[in-house]
Amino acid sequence: MVILREVLMSSTKLASDLRSILERIDARGYRAYKDIEGEYKFEKFYLYIDHVQADPYAAPSRVRVRVDQKLARFPLFLFENAIKKVALEDYLTRIFSKSIKEVAKRFRGSGRSGSIAVLTCSQQVLPRSSLLVNETFVETRFTVGLPARGRRILGQEAKEMFFEEIPSIIEKSLFYESLDSQDLEHHLEVVEDAEFIRRHLEEKNLVAFVADGSLLPRASGVDERPMRKGKAVLFSSPPSLRVILYPPNKREIKGMGIPRGITLIVGGGYHGKSTLLDALAVGCYNHIPGDGREFVISSPDTVMIRAEDGRFAKNVDISPFISNLPLGEDTTSFSTLDASGSTSQAANIMEALEIGARVLLIDEDTSATNFMIRDERMQRLVKKDKEPITPLIDKIKLLYRDPGVSTILVMGGSGDYFDVADTVIMMDTYKPVEVSSEARSIAEQNKTHRSHEGGEVFGQVRSRIPLRESFDPRKGKSGKVKIKPRGMKSIAFGYELIDLSWVEQLVEEAQTRSIGDLIYYAARQLFDGKRTLREALKIIEEKMKEEGLDSLLPFISGQYAAPRKYELAAAINRLTSLKCRRG
Ligand code: ADP
Ligand code: MG
Repeated sequence: MVILREVLMSSTKLASDLRSILERIDARGYRAYKDIEGEYKFEKFYLYIDHVQADPYAAPSRVRVRVDQKLARFPLFLFENAIKKVALEDYLTRIFSKSIKEVAKRFRGSGRSGSIAVLTCSQQVLPRSSLLVNETFVETRFTVGLPARGRRILGQEAKEMFFEEIPSIIEKSLFYESLDSQDLEHHLEVVEDAEFIRRHLEEKNLVAFVADGSLLPRASGVDERPMRKGKAVLFSSPPSLRVILYPPNKREIKGMGIPRGITLIVGGGYHGKSTLLDALAVGCYNHIPGDGREFVISSPDTVMIRAEDGRFAKNVDISPFISNLPLGEDTTSFSTLDASGSTSQAANIMEALEIGARVLLIDEDTSATNFMIRDERMQRLVKKDKEPITPLIDKIKLLYRDPGVSTILVMGGSGDYFDVADTVIMMDTYKPVEVSSEARSIAEQNKTHRSHEGGEVFGQVRSRIPLRESFDPRKGKSGKVKIKPRGMKSIAFGYELIDLSWVEQLVEEAQTRSIGDLIYYAARQLFDGKRTLREALKIIEEKMKEEGLDSLLPFISGQYAAPRKYELAAAINRLTSLKCRRG
């Protein structure tokens, strides 16, 4: 099949051939559109019609356009390194998308007739499959809803799309000459500087950085764009935590450095604590200029942790936090269809550590109280032998000492954490103030008299080996592989539905789409009964970096964006058919 198709594709036809096919199949049944699959040479580009949809209501047809660099003329320095290349491809995808909106008529008949679409970019700059720039060409991958009335082909409308709309969209977006080069370079510089800061956090003993002047709050809870400028209080660093960095495209950049260890963010309700933490959560990604969080930078191995009661978990060693469950369940290999708040939070931490998290972000708003604190009075009333949970407060320092993992914790409700914090930042009317020494002296003067529980070591971080039989995405009598995102926060995987509702660092549906297919890739290529989850994800991460996302996907499509290994693991961990051996 595959070979046959490639042979057909290698015979390039002329644009005029496409025109005559469209004229010939006009008014015929929709199936006749199959005849236009193939490669066509236009005046300024090649058009590849890779896959034609079955009917006007089906997923639209997959199309690519390739412009030779001899005509596109993007200077080499714009993609001379990996990070600039990602930023350039991101920029061009956005311009391409904008040009579609300006040019395309969109509605040209039944169903999706007339649609021209590229994936939707979030505020984040991600490696995606929507657009590719290299020394020889620029290629964009998008979808086209081939027009029909009912199931009858509208050839004239199709001709307008291929011979007027698409060339004009391409003209506006894929030729260097037609772009605003200053705006483009600014985009690249911002991303390059952000990445530079991220790469240098560790050597400065920092886990995160928030530049002065950053705009953290969002337009609304469901709108990731920045809050209106006049309304928002811009970030300004407390002098004691101020650092100055020297990224390649800026003379200097000042801001707050969050050191390694345990950092507490305190402050009154509504003073901006969660907003800061949420910005740090997406600080593992780069952002577009104007987002306000361009220079809110966290380590790439930062994982947001929350309680997620009701979640599924399989064979997770949560024993550092939970042991002696009432019915004697084994917590070194804990499985449940319906975790409690505390066990789910413990599982989320242990799964993140299993694949290499270096920084945990935890917000009291989304945590289980009994996972976070257990005060003196409660220790007296409910004895340790009746309490399976060792609260985070007793493990947070050991988590830093043993596996070396830092935590940034929002905690406005309990001063018990003063005893364990290295740095305390108070948010006061959206401005951070460092209050570490005040917190320390309050802790000295007002001892809590609670006793330390849960031992003197953090405990083991165990690896698991996922078994291949866990992953079967086939469905129906035909046994066809069915893997599909259902919005950004869930994936249909065969008969399974993976629920990612509370996986907070997932930012684009295109990432979710990749995750579904990457699970299947890992199942076929990597989960051999010996490889641990951590090893498999590391291989995927490296392959993605070195050979690109395309190399891991079932077919060429513009609909994919790179996920992090943490979100990929989160999906595997929530697949209810998962089975693991101990690693
Ligand atoms: P907390 O977690 O301290 O209770 P939040 O971070 O949830 O507070 O913020 C409370 C409200 O204040 C939110 O509606 C948020 O959008 C807004 N907000 C947060 N930071 C800023 C800021 N820097 N300027 C203006 N409004 C802000
Ligand atoms: Mg809050």
